[in-house]
Amino acid sequence: MIRLEDVSVTYPGGVEALRGIDLTIGDGEFVVIVGLSGAGKSTLLRVLNGLVPATSGSVVVDGTEVVGASAATLRQVRSRIGMIFQTFNLVNRTSVLNNVLMGRLSVVPVWRSTLGLWPARDREAAMVALERVGIVDKAYVRASNLSGGQQQRVGIARALVNDPAFILADEPTGALDTRTGQEIMELFTRLHESGNTIILVTHEEDIAAFAHRIIRFRDGEVESDEVGAGTKKTAEREAS
Ligand code: ADP
Repeated sequence: MIRLEDVSVTYPGGVEALRGIDLTIGDGEFVVIVGLSGAGKSTLLRVLNGLVPATSGSVVVDGTEVVGASAATLRQVRSRIGMIFQTFNLVNRTSVLNNVLMGRLSVVPVWRSTLGLWPARDREAAMVALERVGIVDKAYVRASNLSGGQQQRVGIARALVNDPAFILADEPTGALDTRTGQEIMELFTRLHESGNTIILVTHEEDIAAFAHRIIRFRDGEVESDEVGAGTKKTAEREAS
């Protein structure tokens, strides 16, 4: 579970990116944070993984207070979070499998990863993650040879390989065409239905429509918090 209490973030220079946010997100939710550029959406994600310190308030992730936490505690919190980015952040000159294994860098000894001697269980976990995102047949292809949608699937597999409690996605469809973006959202829907907690940031309404809960941000504040259309779609799928 994630709980924010009265969280504010003021960046050096004085921009108030978040103002007194109170928010609880339960295990297994599929939440989209929607709002215009500059509303504070990315700052919210960065506060959750401790990349940006809250100026005041409390941020509890999976039972651990993030505000004022030590580096070791932050590492432990981050190991429970899978991050997905708009620009995929892949290493293009290496294989899809190696890119997914990079999700394990924080837990595998450096000498092993440097020599490419990844433990067998990590390789297996990477293949399972690629299976889940539907591109296991591309494991040995160079990342640069994939389409944008396939590259984002690699980014998602890299997040899944640590079996994270929470998946945080920052504009994951922002670099994709509409149809590919919808396919990626269908993938998030399947991940949610298999039990993952997803918090996804977007400024696009048609992307937000996939979520089960839509939280609108405006000028660093929560403007509304409603049930999303994804709830109905999942219920229809389960009934059929
Ligand atoms: P969104 O993700 O909704 O576009 P952000 O969280 O990126 O919004 O930004 C919220 C506000 O904080 C904006 O006014 C932005 O310019 C400002 N901001 C974001 N990052 C920084 C930073 N590192 N330093 C100073 N101001 C920042």
